[in-house]
Amino acid sequence: MTPHIKLFSPGPVEVSPKTLAAFSRPMIGHRGSEFKALYAGIQPQLQTLFGTKQPVFLSTSSAWGVMEAAIRNLVHTRVLCCMQGAFSDKWLDVSKRCGKEADALQVEWGDYTHPEALHEKLATGAYDTVTLIHNETSTGVMNPLADVCAVVRKHPGVLLVVDTVSSFSAVPIAMDELGIDVLLTGSQKALALPPGLALFAVSEKAFARAAQTKDRGYYFDFLEFKKNQEGNMTPSTPSIGHIYALQSKLEDIFHEGLEARYARHASTNALVHTWVKENGFDFFAPEGFRSKTLTCIANTRNVDVAAWIGRVKKQHGFVFDGGYGKLKGKAFRISNMGDETEETMSSMLAATTRCLE
Ligand SMILES: *Cc1c(COP(=O)(O)O)cnc(C)c1O
Repeated sequence: MTPHIKLFSPGPVEVSPKTLAAFSRPMIGHRGSEFKALYAGIQPQLQTLFGTKQPVFLSTSSAWGVMEAAIRNLVHTRVLCCMQGAFSDKWLDVSKRCGKEADALQVEWGDYTHPEALHEKLATGAYDTVTLIHNETSTGVMNPLADVCAVVRKHPGVLLVVDTVSSFSAVPIAMDELGIDVLLTGSQKALALPPGLALFAVSEKAFARAAQTKDRGYYFDFLEFKKNQEGNMTPSTPSIGHIYALQSKLEDIFHEGLEARYARHASTNALVHTWVKENGFDFFAPEGFRSKTLTCIANTRNVDVAAWIGRVKKQHGFVFDGGYGKLKGKAFRISNMGDETEETMSSMLAATTRCLE
């Protein structure tokens, strides 16, 4: 077996032994009473985390499954994709591949979505859907979610789809209050579960739109999820191991307490920020828009990042990320998502410093 290398890269992140034990529990039938009790049992906690009264659905897919589902279920006329990094940029391509009319509201990588620019675009009346990545994992930019939501709310015919894959449960996100129409997240980043599950909720407005949409298919049909949820089931056989792992993780989250969880992410993130300044690097994201769950660091010292990561891996048994896509070598990313504490982050940062030269 390969040795255990601890992941400080922003996804997948380290999964705890408790979660892994839950993940590997013996199987149960997915139409039986035991499964229904499992699924119904986690709903209230999921709804609290989502900030919604709507049911929370579980999709056996990675997050992109639900991202594509949102496009297929909701877009009738034209979708506007807020774009500022690898994940948000890709949504334009995905929308077009689904046969939809789609436009980019593009800013430079490292910038955020400017609410005024979004308002101007929506005022044309051309769009019925907007896609937004809350926390752009490739650049470490956290978008001003409340301001973006306020803009979209001024355009009642427009539905807002928000991806929170790398921010969910690390900062408060109130779906109903903000008027988000589809809120989605994946398992392997902020939630620190194994990859392969996506979670999402859909507003009444978005269900109504979906009901008018032809060719929604089956696997990702929002109305199929809704119908099955009424019986505490999923449309097709879900990854049951993931649902046990999620149940275990929810237990952890609510045992820690939401406020304490948010505070822990803020303090571990602050440790990375201090490290960046002390070591003469700079942030890739502008002040005020920096992610709380990962830090994207501009390689202003021109370090050979790949070699550095290699030394850290060999000498200390963990890895961080050497830059996503076109940022490879120019920036690197350190994650503080999931279960990391001030103690684990401090020892990670100290080891990273020791391997720097
Ligand atoms: C990782 C990531 C995705 C893609 O997730 P998959 O699980 O690979 O589908 C989407 N959005 C954001 C913000 C991400 O960080």
